Amino acid sequence: GAGFLGSFLCERLLEMGHSVVAFDMSNGEKIEPLLEHPKFRFVQDSILNVPTLSREIERSDIVVHFAAVADPKRYVTEPLVTLQIDLQGALNVFRLAAKNKVKVAFASTSEVYGKNPNVPWKEDDDRVLGSTHINRWCYGTAKAAGEHYCYAYHQQEGMPFVIFRFFNVYGPRLDDLGSGRVLPIFLKQCFHGDPITMHGDGLQTRSFVYVTDAVECVLKGIFEKKAEGQVFNIGSGDELSIMDLAKALKKAGGFKSPIEHVTHKKVFGDSYEDIPRRAPDVSKAKRLLGWNATTSLEDGLRQTIAYYKEQVG
Ligand code: UDP
Repeated sequence: GAGFLGSFLCERLLEMGHSVVAFDMSNGEKIEPLLEHPKFRFVQDSILNVPTLSREIERSDIVVHFAAVADPKRYVTEPLVTLQIDLQGALNVFRLAAKNKVKVAFASTSEVYGKNPNVPWKEDDDRVLGSTHINRWCYGTAKAAGEHYCYAYHQQEGMPFVIFRFFNVYGPRLDDLGSGRVLPIFLKQCFHGDPITMHGDGLQTRSFVYVTDAVECVLKGIFEKKAEGQVFNIGSGDELSIMDLAKALKKAGGFKSPIEHVTHKKVFGDSYEDIPRRAPDVSKAKRLLGWNATTSLEDGLRQTIAYYKEQVG
């Protein structure tokens, strides 16, 4: 509730008149403007702490489980924490939700498709993952196991659920400037006029979706009866190479940084493998939820740049 997506979601839920509890181990920086809201409560705790988690889930109507380690660098350097939060944490949430018959909205990921070469991916498409000795795959594996648990708890204990597979969501509050996902890293380099670190040839592709678009899809999915028991891709229809992302960013911000190629091995070591192409088929969200992403990359980048500029003064 106090992370990147969660902070935007809390804001919108409050706007809609709901009572919201953000259960989050972070310091609450991203939800600071919401702290005084009469229908909002922030519980600073970890989903690994079962007694507190249990108390909160017992009195909820819907649990939106978005707590996760979702930073590729951490899959490699902290696989244990990644697995504990993303798998053990999810299990805690599901078990308590099932016991209390509370509906769960689960944040899964495009990473569950792994490196399946047949893009764009539909929700029922195959998962093609690499070897377990490559740490990168621990994240997608944990999330896919979480999805299996949703189906299992639904089938055997009647837990209602909806699953969202996020593609590359971006926008204000994503990560600290210079860390985490690709955009905050590129942006810091651009602000300083440093070279943009392009991993490999930059031809690897992603589908970038602006945060407020992604959150609107989540809201539709949470409250729409037809969405129960379903999985939805949340991405934009566009497949963009990381090289083109860098170019679009430079154009949107008027930045002059040169592009510098670095190998994945140099950045991540041996326990990493990149995903060459990643793009969703978003027709299911359109069909069942009447949703599609409407923010252009240009607008989204401009708003993201403005936010980070203000942050760093
Ligand atoms: N990337 C890059 N330079 C950076 C950081 C990331 O070229 O400084 C690439 C990364 O190798 C990947 C893509 O950008 O191909 C997206 O990376 P991100 O970490 O945002 O998440 P992913 O989509 O891989 O989960």
